[in-house]
Amino acid sequence: MPQPYISLVIPVHNEEEVLEELYHRLTSSLDKIGKPFEIILINDGSTDKSAQLLQQLHERRPEQIRVIEFNGNFGQHMAIMAGFERVRGQIVITMDADLQNPPEEIHKLVTAMEAGHDVVNTYRQDRQDSWWRLQVSRWHNRLRAYMMPKLKMRDEGCMLRAYQRSIVDLMAATGESSTFIPALALTYAANPTEVGVAHAERSAGTSSYNLYKLIRYNFDLVTGFSVFPLQVFTMIGLLISMCSFAFVIFLILRRLIHGPEVEGVFTLFAIMFFLLGIVLFGLGVVGEYVGRIYQEVRKRPRFVIKHVLEKQEKPELQLTVAE
Ligand code: UDP
Ligand code: MG
Repeated sequence: MPQPYISLVIPVHNEEEVLEELYHRLTSSLDKIGKPFEIILINDGSTDKSAQLLQQLHERRPEQIRVIEFNGNFGQHMAIMAGFERVRGQIVITMDADLQNPPEEIHKLVTAMEAGHDVVNTYRQDRQDSWWRLQVSRWHNRLRAYMMPKLKMRDEGCMLRAYQRSIVDLMAATGESSTFIPALALTYAANPTEVGVAHAERSAGTSSYNLYKLIRYNFDLVTGFSVFPLQVFTMIGLLISMCSFAFVIFLILRRLIHGPEVEGVFTLFAIMFFLLGIVLFGLGVVGEYVGRIYQEVRKRPRFVIKHVLEKQEKPELQLTVAE
């Protein structure tokens, strides 16, 4: 069995409708590239028939298709991490199972990697998603560029990306349980680049992300790579304290000049509620960080693997020659 050169890592969560097409398009595009490859599919707690289908795929090409079966749903990025821990190739490519990233584009990434880049990011040309997803992404990409100027990527949501093996090994070694892989890779990259890739509509099935999950997911990115939200609250706090100080001086002066006054109680309430809102939000932001710190210090396993389907490499034959 030749050592794979390209490793594909694909998280799978309830994708029974697309796996067959994924298999055909992916293997034919990799066969065309003509280098030895492996495909690692991680079943992230699917509740449909994905598990059986993945097993069948493994049986069709046992040397090239490996399946990691999780014990539950641990999230897309943890699924990719589990794949990273087991890759054998030199070029590691991640992609979604739903064929929104066409497998026919993989050769572009391989070419860019072979040109000497250690991370190849992608941006979706002519993105095919719902209107609200496009708007959320647009604003989020802008905000991220502002908060994390060091993370240079045009489109953070496109998971078709390629990494050199050394970067993947570093990422797998971090042991973080809430992370954002493309951003993590960029913090280790020395020579990253970006290429444009085509984007298709989901070929079947539905997206696993609703608005709530997307917001949670973006908190992982923001808290994992920036303390900007905490700094914003320090600044707001500072500004409000300074304003209130000036306001107190003003009230004392008014008291001295005009004598006691009791107007404006409701205005005061309005201001109080506004400030209370800011305080609660700030507390929530601090909580996001504290919760993640707690998660990390407990050191629970970040995912649990039920079993792995892969063809064991044969142990090397030890020839002992009798003298
Ligand atoms: N996915 C996963 N675990 C999850 C959610 C999603 O492994 O909890 C996988 C899913 O099977 C797909 C990829 O992550 O391969 C992207 O998910 P999806 O297409 O639902 O997200 P979208 O494209 O809408 O962002
Ligand atoms: Mg998708």
